[in-house]
Amino acid sequence: MAKSRFEYVREFESHDVLLPQCYIVVRIDGKKFHEFSKYYEFAKPNDDRALKLMNAAAKNVVLQYRNDVILAYGESDEYSFILKSDTSLFNRRRDKISSLFVSLFTSNYVTLWPKFFVGVELHPKHLPFFDSRCVQYPNLKAIKDYLSWRFVDTHINNLYNTAFWKLIQVCGMNPREAENRLSGTYSSGKQEILFKDCGINYNNEPEMYKKGSLITRKGEILHIDVIKMIDDLFVGF
Ligand code: ATP
Ligand code: ATP
Ligand code: MG
Ligand code: MG
Ligand code: MG
Ligand code: MG
Repeated sequence: MAKSRFEYVREFESHDVLLPQCYIVVRIDGKKFHEFSKYYEFAKPNDDRALKLMNAAAKNVVLQYRNDVILAYGESDEYSFILKSDTSLFNRRRDKISSLFVSLFTSNYVTLWPKFFVGVELHPKHLPFFDSRCVQYPNLKAIKDYLSWRFVDTHINNLYNTAFWKLIQVCGMNPREAENRLSGTYSSGKQEILFKDCGINYNNEPEMYKKGSLITRKGEILHIDVIKMIDDLFVGF
């Protein structure tokens, strides 16, 4: 195509290229999902439909970029896609990677919504959208620690949320009372409160809630102890 005299404006575009040899994490997170989950009446603390929808959308992203992705890990309204350190996807351009992953995820989320939220229509004023960032990790230890960090976060959040909501749903407390009951407690204390006050053994809660969801390059969705498996998960990478 012939160049116009306006063409020079292109030179103002800058491309942030991610460092070579670094693992890349694309982490996406639902925008205001606290409100979104209220509007669509998600079951608390964990709505199965919503978690499975997140997994299905993420699985399609993994499969589309299976040559570049090592694995993906998700909990709540977030997903992390871990890319190979030597990936040349989009010439490692940050904007391209971040924006294409999150828009592919979002279009899958919206398209798959009716399959998981049967009979629930998305309202134009309450549409799901996600933020996205690329983070670079310089070595295998750092990327394993990243995944472990998200896994521990899942555990801490889920234990708190489970105890909080069961105190409300089973013991009839109001949110303030539940918060007070849990304040200053450690993990073991929360598990004890759950057991003694609510008759719930945390160990028997669904694995997907406790452990989050891990998606392999083949598209398998696993709910496993990431920390125990961490070395196996990165064999060959
Ligand atoms: P931000 O826009 O800053 O991310 P947010 O409201 O999305 O704000 P998060 O810290 O991302 O805040 O938390 C997501 C919230 O979405 C959770 O606290 C929870 O209330 C809700 N949520 C997400 N997934 C589920 C689910 N499967 N079941 C029930 N609630 C969920
Ligand atoms: P890339 O992924 O690099 O952007 P691309 O195939 O999207 O590749 P573009 O330069 O963005 O390439 O061009 C978009 C192409 O999409 C156009 O060349 C045209 O073929 C097609 N297209 C987009 N909008 C329309 C439209 N409204 N009607 C017909 N064709 C369209
Ligand atoms: Mg957030
Ligand atoms: Mg969020
Ligand atoms: Mg979140
Ligand atoms: Mg295009």
